[in-house]
Amino acid sequence: ATPISLVVASGRLAKRGIVVKEAGALERLAQLNMLILDKTGTLTEGKPKISRIHAPTGSKQGLLRLAAAVEANSTHPLAIAIRAEAVQAGLVPPTAADYSYMTGKGVEANVEQRKIGVGNASFVAARNWTFGSPTIRSFAEECQKLGETVLYIADNNRVIGAMSFFDTVKPLSKSAVSRLRKEGVTVLLATGDHPAPALSAAQTAGIPHERVYANMLPEDKLELVDQLKKQDYKVGMAGDGWNDAPALAAADVGLAMGDGTDAALTAGHITLLQPRMTAIPEALLISRMTVRNVR
Ligand code: ADP
Ligand code: MG
Repeated sequence: ATPISLVVASGRLAKRGIVVKEAGALERLAQLNMLILDKTGTLTEGKPKISRIHAPTGSKQGLLRLAAAVEANSTHPLAIAIRAEAVQAGLVPPTAADYSYMTGKGVEANVEQRKIGVGNASFVAARNWTFGSPTIRSFAEECQKLGETVLYIADNNRVIGAMSFFDTVKPLSKSAVSRLRKEGVTVLLATGDHPAPALSAAQTAGIPHERVYANMLPEDKLELVDQLKKQDYKVGMAGDGWNDAPALAAADVGLAMGDGTDAALTAGHITLLQPRMTAIPEALLISRMTVRNVR
């Protein structure tokens, strides 16, 4: 494309809240045939809410209070949901100390002379937690069948309860995915979440199960981008989290959701000011018209 047509296209995109940070990104976008989507905050609203709390040996409020204490400083959407629910229940969580985070898995801290942990099934395995009651596992299975995300809460390495979260798929995600497919782009889902909520969100958005990658750490998302590039795909990555930043930077085109973290915004080549999924096919179509016009 000529420099002038790229400037015109950038203007058309800007009106739609799509900011192209470098001209080369528009030309690479026109070639796109593979797109990896992050789940939380990209395909979904990214504002999970607590659905159910299971506290077989104590009170639900007591469990929520401990979880909110451990999640006091985390910016993760699940941590925000826990704190919001605690506030709503009128709870004042105790102060925690000595936080230790494990990327894509969970967090632990000292609360009232005990070590309290909040994390997913990988965290349970990594920390060798035992289960206080057999009903916790069946609670988790039930929630996962509904496509909910589950976190376990442990007291001194013994799981004492669990909570589940639901996050809704953005209403236009499905239509965005189908428009991308019509343009010849294969759409994949990659998430740090458990397979059950990943598959459920994918199904709602019309992404087939064989194109879903769950339990993906930031370095796994990066590895996926690199693998696909080696297979000569023109790879796009859309995400909002700091955990997406390495993959956004490595992709041929990194599309960062505008309400995302600074790390994602810095790493991406294109910023979607409003975090609309349909902005992706719009940007693709405009880039293709621009590049085609001058050939
Ligand atoms: P995504 O790729 O969908 O944006 P993340 O990589 O942000 O997901 O998180 C993956 C998983 O790691 C979460 O679903 C959750 O189970 C766990 N996790 C991450 N941070 C925390 C936290 N602060 N507290 C509890 N669990 C966490
Ligand atoms: Mg995300």
